[in-house]
Amino acid sequence: MRAQWSKRRKKEDLIIPDLYLEKNEEMQNRRDLTFLIQEAAFAEKIPFFHILDCDLLADGKKARSIIFLGIPLYEPLLLMEQSIYGTDGESKCTMAQKKVESYLRNFSDKLEILGYNTVIKLPDILPDDEANRLFEMTKTGFVGKNHRFIVEDYGCRNYIGYILSDAPLMGGDYRYPEYDENLCGGCTLCLDQCPGGALKENGFTKERCENYRENSKNQVEIAAKSIRKCDVCYACCPIGTKTRWQSADSSV
Ligand code: SF4
Ligand code: SF4
Repeated sequence: MRAQWSKRRKKEDLIIPDLYLEKNEEMQNRRDLTFLIQEAAFAEKIPFFHILDCDLLADGKKARSIIFLGIPLYEPLLLMEQSIYGTDGESKCTMAQKKVESYLRNFSDKLEILGYNTVIKLPDILPDDEANRLFEMTKTGFVGKNHRFIVEDYGCRNYIGYILSDAPLMGGDYRYPEYDENLCGGCTLCLDQCPGGALKENGFTKERCENYRENSKNQVEIAAKSIRKCDVCYACCPIGTKTRWQSADSSV
């Protein structure tokens, strides 16, 4: 899930792992289906794209394959929470979640038209350890001390959703080397600055984070039904030059 659009992509650069090169009908179908999905992601210029082949996972198997799609958070306002009225009444979500949800729905439709079953997953905006465990399996980044998934160019300022599916797909992204080195080192900025006391060296306390974010004294109303909640652990992280938010007062 690197900055994929800065480099020209050539088909001959693709190095498909040997295990997907078998010459039989099942593997040919897997290759064709994967390239179809991959080409759709490239055509729509979706910044984060990766596939996990769950057939290769030893345990904790949730599906046959998982497709990850995501966006960089160039602006803190992408995390602004809005009240949206839909067929099921009022719900709250961020612009980032809505954008990624529309990508996921599109890809889920593509697979369902071909007869596969899918389940769309939109992770919480709070640090989400369950989603992080899956993101780490892609070996495209690492989970920082702020309990957010960090990818090299965009840092933790990203939002990634995923589709669980029974479609047989090839895992990986064959153009880029794996990257999962933890770059936090001795930095403790997010631990020092978390205003809710939710981030500590020994872990993340979801209740503290929720209590802080949901307290109206710690929120900024941007417009009617649009609220900016705490995003200090996103804003303060120095990793990710492409998404650096401009000023310290970008945090609540
Ligand atoms: S900085 Fe804010 S959003 Fe991040 S963990 Fe702390 S309270 Fe939660
Ligand atoms: S702020 Fe520092 S310690 Fe926290 S996630 Fe970023 S690099 Fe790691």
